[in-house]
Amino acid sequence: MRTTHYTVDPTRLEGALDEPLFKAVAAEAADKDMAAFAIGGYVRDRLIGRPCKDVDFVVEGDGIAFAQAVAARLAAGPVHVFKNFGTAMFMFGELQVEFVGARKESYSRDSRKPEVEPGTIKDDQERRDFTMNALALSLNSGSLGALVDPFGGLLHLDQGLIRTPLDPDITFSDDPLRMLRAVRFANQLGFTIDPDTFAAIKRNADRLGIISAERIHTELNKIILTPEPSIGFILLRDSGLLQEFFPEFVELSGAEEKFGMGHKDNFHHTLQVLDNVCEKSDDLWLRWGAILHDIAKPRTKRFEPGHGWTFHGHEDKGARMVPGIFRRLKLPLDEQMKFVQKLVALHLRPIALTKEEVTDSAVRRLLFDAGDDIDALMILCRADITSKNEKKKDRYLRNYELVMQKLRDVEEKDRVRNFQPPITGEDIMRAFDIQPCKRIGDIKSVIKDSILDGVIHNDRAEAWQLMLETGRSLGMEPVLTKDPGVPGS
Ligand code: ATP
Ligand code: MG
Repeated sequence: MRTTHYTVDPTRLEGALDEPLFKAVAAEAADKDMAAFAIGGYVRDRLIGRPCKDVDFVVEGDGIAFAQAVAARLAAGPVHVFKNFGTAMFMFGELQVEFVGARKESYSRDSRKPEVEPGTIKDDQERRDFTMNALALSLNSGSLGALVDPFGGLLHLDQGLIRTPLDPDITFSDDPLRMLRAVRFANQLGFTIDPDTFAAIKRNADRLGIISAERIHTELNKIILTPEPSIGFILLRDSGLLQEFFPEFVELSGAEEKFGMGHKDNFHHTLQVLDNVCEKSDDLWLRWGAILHDIAKPRTKRFEPGHGWTFHGHEDKGARMVPGIFRRLKLPLDEQMKFVQKLVALHLRPIALTKEEVTDSAVRRLLFDAGDDIDALMILCRADITSKNEKKKDRYLRNYELVMQKLRDVEEKDRVRNFQPPITGEDIMRAFDIQPCKRIGDIKSVIKDSILDGVIHNDRAEAWQLMLETGRSLGMEPVLTKDPGVPGS
């Protein structure tokens, strides 16, 4: 089935020949009598009219010296040289331009590091991942503007077909990351993976084990950042790739039935939530929140006779699973992870606020716990409504409108969203002349809870009085009864 919405138009490539960068490369190739080509993603994207910010050139010979000469012609630079890779790169306007000498590669079975030696353009095209990525545009005087297409890449591009230039078992075993790239391109471009190529991915999926977590998460995040990542995730699961680096997600698959009572398939539910979030936000980490919001459902699943399936505590257990998953995939462990954890932990809380009789206190507590992430949380919660019953869906969405109104009302009144306790640990230590100890934390909690419950206002004078009372009830006599004020203010 053809799923692409791109049209291939070779005249788009001709335009490139009039551009200063391509003219400079052609002139340098003619001067030095060297073969030079634009190759890979740039040629592909230009043919289908997709914007592209990096362009790769291959020359038969010394790519680094060639890059320096072209940069000099264009008065561009500085040229960054990567001697180990035999590549050189410079910026030309917004475009990242890279040069490499054509090469031949041979791989050994247990390493990603190939033996590299100089080669021809054909050798270089053979080591590319897909036929559409092996297309080269000649910049040589004898064949200026000709498309060099030894593997039928143009036809496959037109068919929206992802195929390897060589036997797919060889291409994938040489660099298993290419299997993830196949899924990523299928998702990004709306293309189909050729059945033989897909069958080879299934056979080689376990070879992903030699790939670093960084390279894996880079491709995975590109999938997550597409407008409809569910397409990529289904391919990842069906090919066996997902199991290799994210088995917890695969575990969400399937719906068990007992005594005629089933539950929804949480794999598909999660993907629908993810796609829904993607309609509202480009934030990678909010999207990760959607991916992980129900991740602990398989581990908390119980069948309660007479009641049905339950997943009690999946939000807390899920939040506790986040660091392990992030660590394994080498995703950032600081704010981004904490944000995802918070979304997972809080994703059921707004539902509790849909009840008519909900108190201001419950609303204040959610605002306090979510802080500035409340808007992201509400996007996730709305996306979490995946009922097929339109009436139900409308009702749930209307309920959330009411919750959002309550959140706005309470925030306006009480300003607890970024609430900082008005009395600090320092204040307590000075007031009672005590050293750091557990009682300080206890007093702070009493003050925080009283503010969130509306017993006192979010106000320093009221909090000071409450601190004195609470301290006395714990058997301490204050040495300061009047507030000396905030130090330094
Ligand atoms: P994008 O820029 O959207 O990631 P791209 O196809 O341009 O897509 P790059 O990673 O920029 O991908 O690589 C440029 C070209 O280098 C590719 O088109 C392909 O020809 C080749 N290439 C990149 N990675 C690999 C790989 N792992 N195996 C084989 N060829 C690759
Ligand atoms: Mg590219």
